[in-house]
Amino acid sequence: MIEEQTFEEENTARIKEVFASIQGEGPYIGAKQLFIRFCDCNLRCHYCDTDFESESEDYTIERVMGMIKQFDLSTIHSVSLTGGEPLLSISFLQKLLPVLKENNLKIYLETNATLPEELAKIIDYIDYVAADIKLESATGMMSSFDLHDMFFNTSKNHECFAKIVFDDNITEEEIEKCIELGQKYNLLLILQPKMQNDEMAITSVFAVKILDKFLKKYNNVRLIPQVHKFLSVR
Ligand code: SF4
Repeated sequence: MIEEQTFEEENTARIKEVFASIQGEGPYIGAKQLFIRFCDCNLRCHYCDTDFESESEDYTIERVMGMIKQFDLSTIHSVSLTGGEPLLSISFLQKLLPVLKENNLKIYLETNATLPEELAKIIDYIDYVAADIKLESATGMMSSFDLHDMFFNTSKNHECFAKIVFDDNITEEEIEKCIELGQKYNLLLILQPKMQNDEMAITSVFAVKILDKFLKKYNNVRLIPQVHKFLSVR
């Protein structure tokens, strides 16, 4: 179930950390990015590895930019807004993103794709939308295909791809609904096996079987596991 949304109204956001690392998921795997990790999320997926309990701090725009400018920006592919769910801090993002753009930084949004109205407020600043399609079989929460549909409609004129975390509980109906969204919005679908204790929760044979099921009906699909855990980076 989606929890009640709370939105920052002030010039600060609750942020856990700002750091440089390697993108470990999706088509930009291996790209060096600056990550801004926001706290809080409107979902509670079973497989979530975000620590919602530990300390976070209120960051101002100035504090975030001060930290970002400590890195060699010539080596950075883009700034990844990650979480938690970054779109919960929409007022802050509306102020931060123009400043990042003034510094010639590209912006990569990692999102659970359930807040389309918030996305609409900042979509023109986003260069890459890395969106989830959440499956009830993997998250333990009711799927939100209607919200995903509205979300992808908002991002349709931007570079957008969809990540689908799955395990051996994935259903035929879920596969159909993902393919429908892929076809409707011409999305690259990334199948990402669920992880359990830094190992894939399914066998490679099963993962390829699911890939084939998708490919029989839609060919813009790739099977890509998380790699940052193999690199031992965040
Ligand atoms: S949407 Fe992402 S951050 Fe939120 S609970 Fe699910 S996995 Fe965790």
